[in-house]
Amino acid sequence: MNHESIIKSHHERTVLPNLLDYEQACRHFNWAEALDEMNGLPGRTGLNIAFEAVDRHVIGPRRDQLALRWLGRNDEVRDYTFTQLRGLSNHFANVLRSLDIREGDGVFAMLGRLPELYVAALGTLKNRSVFCPLYAAFGPEPIRARVEIAQPRLLITTESLYRRKIAPIRDSLPSVRHIILVSEDHQPTSMPGTHDYHSLIYDASGQFTIGPTNGEDPAFIHFTSGTTGRPKAAVHAHESVVAQYITGRYALDLHDGDIYWCTADPGWVTGTAYGIIAPLTNGVTTIIDEAEFNVERWYRIIEEQKVSVWYTAPTAIRMLMRAGSEVAQRYDLSSLRFLASVGEPLNPEAVVWSHRTFGEPFHDNWWQTETGGIMIANLAALDVHPGSMGKPLPGVEAAIVERKPDGSIQIINEPNVEGELALRSGWPSMFRGYLNDEERYRQCFVDGYYLTGDLARRDEEGGYWFVGRRDDVIKTSGHLVGPFEIESVLLEHPAVAEAGVIGKPDPLAGEIIKAFVALKPGSEPGDNLRREILGHARTRLGAAIAPKELDFVAELPRTRSGKIMRRLLRARELGLPEGDISTLETQATTD
Ligand code: AMP
Repeated sequence: MNHESIIKSHHERTVLPNLLDYEQACRHFNWAEALDEMNGLPGRTGLNIAFEAVDRHVIGPRRDQLALRWLGRNDEVRDYTFTQLRGLSNHFANVLRSLDIREGDGVFAMLGRLPELYVAALGTLKNRSVFCPLYAAFGPEPIRARVEIAQPRLLITTESLYRRKIAPIRDSLPSVRHIILVSEDHQPTSMPGTHDYHSLIYDASGQFTIGPTNGEDPAFIHFTSGTTGRPKAAVHAHESVVAQYITGRYALDLHDGDIYWCTADPGWVTGTAYGIIAPLTNGVTTIIDEAEFNVERWYRIIEEQKVSVWYTAPTAIRMLMRAGSEVAQRYDLSSLRFLASVGEPLNPEAVVWSHRTFGEPFHDNWWQTETGGIMIANLAALDVHPGSMGKPLPGVEAAIVERKPDGSIQIINEPNVEGELALRSGWPSMFRGYLNDEERYRQCFVDGYYLTGDLARRDEEGGYWFVGRRDDVIKTSGHLVGPFEIESVLLEHPAVAEAGVIGKPDPLAGEIIKAFVALKPGSEPGDNLRREILGHARTRLGAAIAPKELDFVAELPRTRSGKIMRRLLRARELGLPEGDISTLETQATTD
């Protein structure tokens, strides 16, 4: 990286960054002191995320401040103050209690970007049940698989999602005792076997006392994907609020009076950690936009709502960039003070472009479902090196390591050497386990470090640069997708004998999902069959995570132990060197 391209942090800001002296903060920071910034439940009965996010503001000067402003698809606006949010979440907690949903029970929400999502999440946490958001673009199969793993007692969704995705599989969700439906038109729903959200809320009391909550009690389940097997259900505890609050201050530079917009889908971890918890605990106003991405709409929202802090993702930034700076110039975007991005590699050009276009660069940061909060970030007070993910936050100790054949790790101290990104265990938002998969959880930790599965390098100044993933997991439009889940659905098609999927680089989505399929004897490859198999995958998985491309192959490259060599499929697709193919099952490929 040459020095011309470094974007200097400017100190003539009217608002000084919360974290001004990085080195000093790293020396003095400790998580126990950070915990002291939380109120704790009244009567010293523990630490509950919902109390820190909402109720504590209601007993202070923010009681009448706007907590959420929801912008409907058709420009309807709904505002919620902290006091109103406390009331509604109390109502929801009482609804859960009336339905006998108890401490530790799972509550799934498939709601898209609706205010009811916030109410349900906070009410669930107050009831000390465990909240799990589901991506609304999932098809029936990913929903069924996740319910089977986490065995939730209750599901809240919209009437239309229910009709399209849940009703057809209702019989295969036996753990779900209650389904609550939010009607889009505010008319009571009367679908058999379901409850109407608005009637339940109306009938429930607005008074609720949060029971004793241990910081270690489970609060959230977030699904993520690995290369093999079923999706992984990462469990997060109430104590994670400490990290989300602090990283909101440090990495997103949230200040009193900010209007904050996190565009992440609430079905994934960013949508809760930084769409709900970080902004509410920091007492800022959050904008929620129900609609899908649209360049002009987004700029209009920033202008009209005077958004000051904007947290979004590289796919969206690339789409804004493609639309051109001229579109941005038609709007008054001068309210923007801090821009941050997460989820996939952020191209250096996008950082430079945003600096030119908005007068502020996007500050890339890195974390993952398992870490529960931002770990590495370009901070407001530090210069931005386009292409770098930034530096570890105070309280986070990162390292580049190499896995040894004996299972141990070696820390690589020299700069600019590629290795696996590892984090020393012990920050509050670290996941506490994968549900029903102790072994997989255990394998993530070696010698006191959590191994992230990402490859990276560290430069001479301590900045981290993303290199790639160690495994075959795919990032498409910011969504992490496990190849195994997709391959399993392709295999359901009667003509498919074998299937392997890879992430194929794409200028907008980062990667798209490409499938390679070997057919059963008697089935002939052709465009009709390709369309049919892709259509089957889209129906079962949902369009967002279904393969976009499909090639027929005679057979798939496999290791001698029978594993599909997706790395080889990818190298062949991209015309890259095939690397080490000593484990390739040659017999099978030459037959
Ligand atoms: P998820 O668990 O869905 O949040 O996905 C986490 C993964 O997304 C990480 O392990 C990385 O592979 C990728 N990721 C997240 N943030 C970044 C970033 N700033 N740059 C590159 N990759 C990222």
